[in-house]
Amino acid sequence: MCGIIGYSGNRQARDVVLSGLKRLEYRGYDSAGIVVGNGSIQLVKDKGGMANLESILPEMKGQYGIGHTRWATHGPPLKNNSHPHLDCNEELALVHNGIIENNMALREELIERGHTFKSETDSEVIVHILEELYDGNLEDAMLKTVAKLEGSFALAAIHAKENGKIVGVRNISPLVVGVGKKENFLASDVPAILEYTDRMIYLLDGEIVTLTRDEVKIMNFEGKPVARNWQKVEMNLEGAEKSGYEHFMLKEIFEQPDVIMDTFIGANLNAENGYSINLRPDTIKIIACGTSYHAGYVGKYMFEEFAHVPTTVDIASEYRFSSATNSNPLIIGISQSGETSDTLAALRTAQKRGFNTLGIVNIVGSTLTREADNIFYTRAGLEVGVAATKTYITQLIALLTLAIKVGVAKKTLGIDEARHLSNQLRKLPKHVRTVLDNSEQIIEISRGISDSKSMFFLGRNMNFPVALEGALKMKEISYIHAEGYPGGELKHGPLALVTEDTPVIAIAVKDQTYEKMLGNIGEVSARGATVIGIGTEGDTELPKYADHVIFIPKVPPLFTPVLVSVVMQLLAYHVANVRGCEIDKPRNLAKSVTVE
Ligand code: GLU
Repeated sequence: MCGIIGYSGNRQARDVVLSGLKRLEYRGYDSAGIVVGNGSIQLVKDKGGMANLESILPEMKGQYGIGHTRWATHGPPLKNNSHPHLDCNEELALVHNGIIENNMALREELIERGHTFKSETDSEVIVHILEELYDGNLEDAMLKTVAKLEGSFALAAIHAKENGKIVGVRNISPLVVGVGKKENFLASDVPAILEYTDRMIYLLDGEIVTLTRDEVKIMNFEGKPVARNWQKVEMNLEGAEKSGYEHFMLKEIFEQPDVIMDTFIGANLNAENGYSINLRPDTIKIIACGTSYHAGYVGKYMFEEFAHVPTTVDIASEYRFSSATNSNPLIIGISQSGETSDTLAALRTAQKRGFNTLGIVNIVGSTLTREADNIFYTRAGLEVGVAATKTYITQLIALLTLAIKVGVAKKTLGIDEARHLSNQLRKLPKHVRTVLDNSEQIIEISRGISDSKSMFFLGRNMNFPVALEGALKMKEISYIHAEGYPGGELKHGPLALVTEDTPVIAIAVKDQTYEKMLGNIGEVSARGATVIGIGTEGDTELPKYADHVIFIPKVPPLFTPVLVSVVMQLLAYHVANVRGCEIDKPRNLAKSVTVE
């Protein structure tokens, strides 16, 4: 998963590529590099992120170039493994996002034929194949090269002697063309080039594009020309800036009241792709990874409560290997980016099984939006922080809205009840603001637990997956080991780990699990753990059990995951901030996971 950018026009390519890479850094930041063409190839690359690259970048004269910010899959994050990669003659330069699955075999053949490899990456084979097949025309060589590659790849390449020309390829990994006036762009993602143009062409899998200053030509892997018009993108760049917050993550947490409403209002605009959603399924299977999986897990309780539809939740990379046992299922795939490889692969498996698929996606025009039978957009806007916050909350809203719709369609939910729930949903942004206003207390509590080595997050029923998500958020940004558990399960093993050095965050809101949660809190307190309870406003009992209590406003039980999650986000954020962590870019992680 990495960021790719390309530029051809009248400006200095160095500057455009650099600014674009900075906006793509959330996709990977192990290393970065830029190549500019000007009769010869000028290359600068290094390990580390964009700040480092910028600090070593000299003047580079030339009006076409490509750049890359890496998230390593093959070979450690070292200078040699950084992209762009050059051929043996140093005339061709290439950047790659994805994985070349047959790279070992190709590499052996190429070495036998005398090529010298400078890196351990899978990507470098591509530039040597290009070198062999190059006969004065880069797109012809590319056409022959892609026929030899297996795996996922978005590519951009230039040749020293073909002034102003960039050739791009899309196969599974994303790539978009930006159409300007006397200049054209290529990027992994729209925000990278939005400051220059809002006219985009989303390439499809199996397409090759040739860009010059004046022209954009697209063909398929068979070499046949493809006609495609640009689309205007309605996204504003301000979203990509921090607007005064210390980190994107905090800014995005505070944007949640707005995006909840956008998603709720947008729900009626979601009948995309021409089909209608199967609102009367016998079963539902939700497929996702990471935070989206946790949202889906909360969704299970929503569908079962509102619509009485048995719902299972699968981790995408596991679903592919499961047997197809559902009857008349609705398959829901959840992915913020719409590019998550595992989720896309699982959805394709479901489609092969003949199942109706629905994608819950944030990024318009992403692969999932084109492949799923129906789309439900979460309207969270651009999320830059690697740790998902507002996109997760809007996934919960999407699932709530859908569960209510399915409930009405299946007549398990009366119209009046559904209307009441919708009205409650409209009030959620206000309640989220109340939680956000309580940041001071959460900062105070965070200071007290920021030295811990390990934490437990407990919840039951629909707040069990919220505990899982709370623990995930804590570990990914603060690097403190944290585990989410169902309250009742602790005594079957993990209680052995609870001591006075293990803070426990316990969700004890007023629902059917409340009394039982108080019991679980008693069990961990007896082992000396500091308990941070999350409770319902007005509860006078919980403070007698927990060392600290953070209150959330009273809402219907199935809405509590939204408010509790906001508390968890703030807790993780402030603990990580006290610890001085790189919150927006946690180590080893990247935002959109386009590798399997
Ligand atoms: N597989 C390539 C590498 O490890 C590209 C990874 C990426 O998409 O950033 O360099």
